[in-house]
Amino acid sequence: MDYKEIKIDTASPKPPMASVLLIYTGGTMGMVHDEQGALVPFNFEYILEHIPSLKTFDLELKVIAFTNPIDSSNVKPDHWVSIGNIINDHRNEYDGFVILHGTDTMAYTASALSYLLHGLNKPVILTGAQLPIAAPRTDARENIITAIEIASSKEGEMPMVPEVCIYFDSFLLRGNRSKKVESVHFDAFESENYPPLAEAGITIDYNKNVINQSLEHPLDFKFKFDNRVSILKLFPGITRSMVHGILGNNEVKGIVLETYGSGNTPTDKWFLEELKEAINRDVLILNVSQCPGGKVMQGRYETSKELEQIGVLSGGDITTEAAITKLMFLLANCESYSEIEQSIVTPICGEMS
Ligand code: ASP
Repeated sequence: MDYKEIKIDTASPKPPMASVLLIYTGGTMGMVHDEQGALVPFNFEYILEHIPSLKTFDLELKVIAFTNPIDSSNVKPDHWVSIGNIINDHRNEYDGFVILHGTDTMAYTASALSYLLHGLNKPVILTGAQLPIAAPRTDARENIITAIEIASSKEGEMPMVPEVCIYFDSFLLRGNRSKKVESVHFDAFESENYPPLAEAGITIDYNKNVINQSLEHPLDFKFKFDNRVSILKLFPGITRSMVHGILGNNEVKGIVLETYGSGNTPTDKWFLEELKEAINRDVLILNVSQCPGGKVMQGRYETSKELEQIGVLSGGDITTEAAITKLMFLLANCESYSEIEQSIVTPICGEMS
């Protein structure tokens, strides 16, 4: 990915109280209308024009902007690796990082980065907007400014939030617990299975009990993802050939099986046979609920008992976004099938209970 560096001349004292690196990837916040009236991403200087107050910040601020900003629907694992590399290259220079990103795939990027940057021990705050920065009622300004404040917050010498998060519409959420749940109103994200890490009002109130503590984790960033994965979402009436289309695909090495309620599936013989055949070919199948809240409990109902027996793994309360990115991460970085099998059901950085 090509990118350019933009230094913002702020009112920061020398040496600065804190320093934040902004990484601009694209998304609605920086979009403008093209000739046909569709919203397309625009460069970072345009954002800067609309938030002159960034220059009054008491912080050292620098921006790394994608030369060709993207709509986040075009995000690929290579973009996660590029963002991870930028952060890794600058990890000793900055107290925190803010990633400006489209909302559509923000929860996937946040989840992927949480695994990739495990052990960084610094705030990495993703944010974006539902309305472009030039719109009179835009939510971009507040989101960016508060995300920067959170990324620079410290308690003594320690960062207040040493983890990958999404800040949006007054709430700071753990990145790998978040989901985009709203495409019109400003409250675009939720983390149904984990409490907000902070709420911004007149002050920013941190919920310290639920924030990851700084970890003594060796810095061994693994910048690889394997996208030979798929998601099979069940619905009443799904047929064998539809299921086979995904489970029988020889390219696929890992599948998120989106089941009903607490992890239930049809008990049709053909369905279980398809699952067994895939598992026999060492395809890893992770059971994740279609419900945003609650968790998979294989064996609670008759309709999930056999899944456990044939080797379908339980995703507990993980989101689909966190599950599919975790599969991609483990497939690329584990040495053996049994290591992936063990790691997928073990929390890496708070993505599951
Ligand atoms: N399509 C846009 C994107 O994800 C939506 C947004 O930014 O809110 O880039």
